[in-house]
Amino acid sequence: MFDLIIKGGCLVGIDGTTLGTIGIKSNKIVLISKDEGNLSAKEVIDASGKLIFPGMIDCHVHLNEPGFEWREDILHGTRSAAAGGITTIIDMPLQNTPSPITAENFRAKARLLNDKAYVDFALWGGFIDNNLGHLNDLYGQGAASLKVFLGPVSSDYSPLDLGLLRAGLQQAAKLGIRIGIHCEDISIIRQEESNAQKEGRNNIADYLNSRPVIAEILAVTNVIELAKETKAKVHICHVSHPDVAEVIKKAKAAGLDVTAETCSHYLIFNDDIFKEKGPLFKCAPPIRSEKEREQLWAYVLDGTLDCLASDHSPCAPAEKEKGLSDIWQAWTGISGLQTTFQIMFNEMYHKRKLNPALLAKVLSYNPSRVFGLYPRKGALRLGSDADLVIVNPETPWNVESGDLFYKNPISAFVGTQGKGIVEKTIIRGEIVFDQGIFKVNEGFGIFINPRMM
Ligand SMILES: [Zn+2]
Repeated sequence: MFDLIIKGGCLVGIDGTTLGTIGIKSNKIVLISKDEGNLSAKEVIDASGKLIFPGMIDCHVHLNEPGFEWREDILHGTRSAAAGGITTIIDMPLQNTPSPITAENFRAKARLLNDKAYVDFALWGGFIDNNLGHLNDLYGQGAASLKVFLGPVSSDYSPLDLGLLRAGLQQAAKLGIRIGIHCEDISIIRQEESNAQKEGRNNIADYLNSRPVIAEILAVTNVIELAKETKAKVHICHVSHPDVAEVIKKAKAAGLDVTAETCSHYLIFNDDIFKEKGPLFKCAPPIRSEKEREQLWAYVLDGTLDCLASDHSPCAPAEKEKGLSDIWQAWTGISGLQTTFQIMFNEMYHKRKLNPALLAKVLSYNPSRVFGLYPRKGALRLGSDADLVIVNPETPWNVESGDLFYKNPISAFVGTQGKGIVEKTIIRGEIVFDQGIFKVNEGFGIFINPRMM
């Protein structure tokens, strides 16, 4: 007797799709079969005409609790995740007060999410300019990775210089933990930024000019050289430009354990849209040109960019509105947690006619592997958590503010259109989200500790 059977759907694996039935018992996938047979279960879902994906993992999310709940909080953020087919988030250490830069803060944050989250979660630990001595402890607490900034960062966090990053990578190599890095060279940005500000230049073109791709290339090159020397595993966050991806591709070909992610905004928007539509599209690294946007796709297809993430970086509306008259004042970040899957599904499946297996790879299997959550998460596989997303591939959608479950339902993605929506999100065999309705209570989500796989 199964707890739940899902029959008649098209199962999306990392190698392709197949029609089949999934049987779930005690939170796990216990049957994957090509025929329906004579199975009995407490509940049966007929998924005919639907696609069944492994639960998506968003490896780069900023929920902002504790400390900055007016931007986003755990309740709103994780409900948005569930509605968007994200069954596990990996939450960033900023903006948080206190930030999980010590074991104590890390445990407190995990407890908070444990009490409130609608989806499962893993956590990034913070690596800033004064906690080198805490990295071992953060590893011990189950940090999925440690987050480093080489570029400018908001005042509650601090960027690292290369010396400190190198010392951290030496430790990380011994522990086997991956360090994830926001790669933009701070000195290049500061130079351009301060020139523009001194001269009173404050429009979007000035902002774009202050974040040239060379800043990203230099930072990634430095990180890769340090990874080579220290033999540490590194993850390059939010790659925005094909030339950066090319540097990563070469490092991978040379055998280094370098992984990378990009975000849907770099794959569907260009800098003309940013200039036309304004501060909602301000993020870092910035959105690049149309030609570069299209070229970036090649690196998703060839596997250089392992993961797709939202870099969900929310704010209050006033924090974007300030940028209408002065772009430097606008919040830097885009909210995308709820829409990443549907936008990428539309792009890949409908527009580019790609096999949905690629989506299962970049949004589920690869992030699970990269951040140590495999084999519990990230695959339609016997023995894995029954995290599943049932998608109606043909339902049209139009992202409207009123559909977003964020604390602040504003996003650069409002107004985008496409086809294919998440009908049901299932986590550990429980239906969490069902056609607009949340079926579990806050605190359903649990902490996933990569040290305990
Ligand atoms: Zn981020």
